[in-house]
Formats: sequence, structure tokens, C-alpha cells
Amino acid sequence: MSAGRRLLIRGGRVIDPAAGRDAVADVLVIDGAVAAVGQDAAAGSGDCEVLEAAGLWVLPGLIDLHVHLREPGFEYKETVLTGSRAAAAGGFTAVACMPNTDPPNDSAAVTRAILLKAEEAALVRVYPIGCITAGQKGQRMAEFGDLVAAGCRAVSDDGRPVMHAGVMRRALEYSRHFNIPVISHCEDLHLAGDGVAHEGAVATRLGLKPIPAAAEEAMVAREVVLARQTGARVHIAHVSTRGSVSLLTAAKAEGLSVTAEATPHHLTLTDEAIAGFDTATKVNPPLRSAEDREALRRALAEGIIDVVATDHAPHGLADKDLEFDVAANGIVGLETALPLVLRLVAAGSCSLHRAIDALTWRPARILGVPGGRLAPGDPADITLVDPDEAWTVDPEKFFSKGRNSPFRGWRLTGRVRATIVGGRTIFRDGVMVGGQSR
Ligand SMILES: [Zn+2]
Repeated sequence: MSAGRRLLIRGGRVIDPAAGRDAVADVLVIDGAVAAVGQDAAAGSGDCEVLEAAGLWVLPGLIDLHVHLREPGFEYKETVLTGSRAAAAGGFTAVACMPNTDPPNDSAAVTRAILLKAEEAALVRVYPIGCITAGQKGQRMAEFGDLVAAGCRAVSDDGRPVMHAGVMRRALEYSRHFNIPVISHCEDLHLAGDGVAHEGAVATRLGLKPIPAAAEEAMVAREVVLARQTGARVHIAHVSTRGSVSLLTAAKAEGLSVTAEATPHHLTLTDEAIAGFDTATKVNPPLRSAEDREALRRALAEGIIDVVATDHAPHGLADKDLEFDVAANGIVGLETALPLVLRLVAAGSCSLHRAIDALTWRPARILGVPGGRLAPGDPADITLVDPDEAWTVDPEKFFSKGRNSPFRGWRLTGRVRATIVGGRTIFRDGVMVGGQSR
């Protein structure tokens, strides 16, 4: 928006857990920042563009700290541009992208290339995540200083664990110099073996090789111990088991700097979903048991799971149109995340405020980025949602290149009506209205 330009979002229900606000109010935006929120925000607003929001929710822009944009190297699966469109359509105003690209994001050159693509896309804010180890090989540490200087907000070898505990310890110690979180993909590869499904009755019945819950929990336990030893900030990616929740509960009670995320698919589905061998349900960590899902839901409600992150993992048809054993792992999540979380709220497993907090303020705090709140001076990153609109998931209509959603055909309630970044509307009523045109 040009200098002095004003936007008034009028008469919506402003739900902003971080600011402690849940009331019908106007939001006045001046020069890309929130200028006022309240009944009288419109007073003295003068000449301005008005967005009528009666009947809608006005939320701080959603922030996803775990997505795979696939660029560079896997542009047939997704690009920074298509992933940014998917994010905008899903109500996300900022995403943090994992470094398992080709080449991996283990150097300032790759970080800068991603940021340049994001700038060209001119849609959502993109925060690159750098590698923990060079080439994600798990041996030699990446140069965190260069990565952070180039714009990385965290480090992770996501997609793979750092199996060498000594390397992880040094990485955690080193991360403290830059005050960045280390995001851990917790999977003991020796325990996971060549498994493809949660170890339990369903895998046995289907004859699929199992991945025990212990493959995740052994690594979560190690990371908790190393967090205690180093004092570093550890963030556990895609938590999927009850045992992991117990470990996190104890770590938090002890006051360690350990945070965690869960995905909408692990919060929604169980291993029963794989019974039809639909490869859209194949994901790592695998969909777990009903008891695990229940533990995740409770942990989200209690804040033990801090954040809902999508682990948006688009694939091409050729990666997924294979036998279950050999198909790629991953689920596209950006365009279904919010209504799936609202489904948990509607079922009474999580309060609305905690759910919104888990999608806005908490991820902003973990990444140390602006946004996640609508107080005067905050960037005007805002998501407008019709909480009552029901719609049917059709992956063919996704803005993402990925079609690999296990929610195909699901009827969901709650739809993003507008996504605003820095005061600029980039998505409205199903149409991408900002950013580059091609
Ligand atoms: Zn992962």
C-alpha cells in the first residue's frame, strides 16, 4: 500500500489471543501497520478503503513454521510462488520453509535465492530455515552465522534426523550464539528401519512394515536431555505419539526451552485411514493410534503442543501413484489447516483462543518474527474467515501444485475470505489478487 494509504476492516469479530481481545471491532490500517483496533478505530480515519467484515472473524495472519516449498530442485512438486499462493489461500501470511531442497539450504547463497523468489512472488512472508548439518548429511555442522546473516530464522535437518548425538549437542551449543531454535525431526532410523506405517494392529492386518512409536520417542528423549545440557532452544517437529507428549510435559514442567508442534493430519486422522492403501495418507511420522491422537489433542488444548504446523509436503503424481511401500511420504496441508483445526474446536477438544494462538502468536514467538498479533504498530498481517461457510475439499482446485491430500471429499466448515499482508490484500474470495501475475 502506498504512503499514507488507509484500510478500514469494519465490523468483524476480532479474535486476537495475544492481545486478549475477542470482540466485534474495527481495525484501522495505515501504511501497512495496525493503527487502531476498537469501536472507535474508524474515527478520524478520513479517506480510506473499507473492507466490510460483518459476520466474519478478523484474525492475526496465520503463521506456519513448517512447510516444504520444494524450491530449489523440486519445482515440479512446488515452487516458492505456488507454495506462497497455497499459503495465502489457506489464510497464512507467513511461512517458514524447510531446507531439504536440492541443493539443500545449507549456505547463504541458497537462502538468498529463496528470499529473492519470495520477493518476486510478492505474496506471503517467507522465512527460510537453514540446515543443521552440511548437505543434511548429519556430520559437519552448517555455518549458522552465514545462514542467519542471510535471513534464516531457525535450523533443521527436517526430513532426516541428526542421528549423531555429539553433532546435535554441538549444534545446540552453537545455536545459542544466534538465539535461533533448532527444529528436530525426531526419528531414530535404526528403530524406524524400513517401516512405512505405525506399529500396531492396522499395520499387522495390512501386512505393512511397522514404525514403532519408540522411533520418535527415543529421539524426543535425547533432545530433551540435550536441551537440559546445553540450554539451547529445541523445537520438536510433527509430534505424533502419546509417549512424546509425556516427555514434553516433563520437559516443560522442568522449565526447559523445549517447544513442539503437531500437524492437522496427526490431530485428525489415525492409522485406520491407511486401510485403503491410499498413498495420500502415507506420511512420516506415520498416522498413529486413536490413543496417540487423543494425547495430541489434549496436549494442544493444554499448550504442551505449542503450535499447529502443517508440514505441507507437496509431491508430484509420479511420487505418490505407486504402491504404498514405495510411495513418497507427505501430505499437502496449507489449504485445509484452518478448517481442520476449527473442527477440533467444534468438537470441544480445544478452545478457539488456544487454537488461534497455536496458529499465530506461538509460532511468531518461536521464530522470533513480527506478527501473530493485532496491536497498534504490529504489521497489518490479517486473515478474514467466514466461520460458517461449509465447503468440500477438492485438491484439484488447490493453489498448491500438490494434490496429495487425504481430506479429498471432506466437508469442512470455515473458509478464508481474505488474506492481507502488510496492509495489502493478496487473496480475496477465492482469487489471488496480489503478487506477481503469472
Ligand atoms: Zn520432518
